Amino acid sequence: MDQVKIGQFIARLRKEKKLTQRQLADKLLISDKTVSKWECGKGLPEVSLMLPLCEELGISVNELLSGEKIPEKDYREKAEENIMELVREREENKKKLVIEAVVACMGVLTLVLCVMLAGLLEEVTTPLRIFLIVFGSVIVAASIGIVVAIDVDTGTFECRSCGERFVPSTKEYIFTTHGLTTRKLKCPHCGKTTNCKKRLTR
Ligand SMILES: [Zn+2]
Repeated sequence: MDQVKIGQFIARLRKEKKLTQRQLADKLLISDKTVSKWECGKGLPEVSLMLPLCEELGISVNELLSGEKIPEKDYREKAEENIMELVREREENKKKLVIEAVVACMGVLTLVLCVMLAGLLEEVTTPLRIFLIVFGSVIVAASIGIVVAIDVDTGTFECRSCGERFVPSTKEYIFTTHGLTTRKLKCPHCGKTTNCKKRLTR
């Protein structure tokens, strides 16, 4: 999905309807920040908002996902392209989650191994011991970095309170309480801080 193109399309239609971001947001019962985010190409409308948004803008979901008005003769072809694209994005996200898990496990294993070697082997000298621990820590830090980089890019978090799905900023993402599939995040929609659940789709 070309988020930038879709965002510009939403902005253009909204202006044609002589609506401000605020007015469109009010009609959809969401914050104007969310509308602004879409229009800047920083996220797609969540699935539950797609139909109401399309209704307000006078387009079909197929056109929304294409980021343009579609002539009748191309309609079917475009619809199939969009469906395939959605399926592909989902699969890629799943793959990313597997890679993440593998990287995280390898990082932790390396650290455990280094600490064990440093602590258990009697003939290990102090400098080598320090080296092992530093080495293990660096590997762990690197794997955390990789996991965060992949993770921030994958899917969204769902607010426990209002159900809004959103992508947190990297800073917010790192400095927050982690569960296995949850993060304690502040919802940009209702403003409540809840244990948001990770979702694979937007
Ligand atoms: Zn919320």
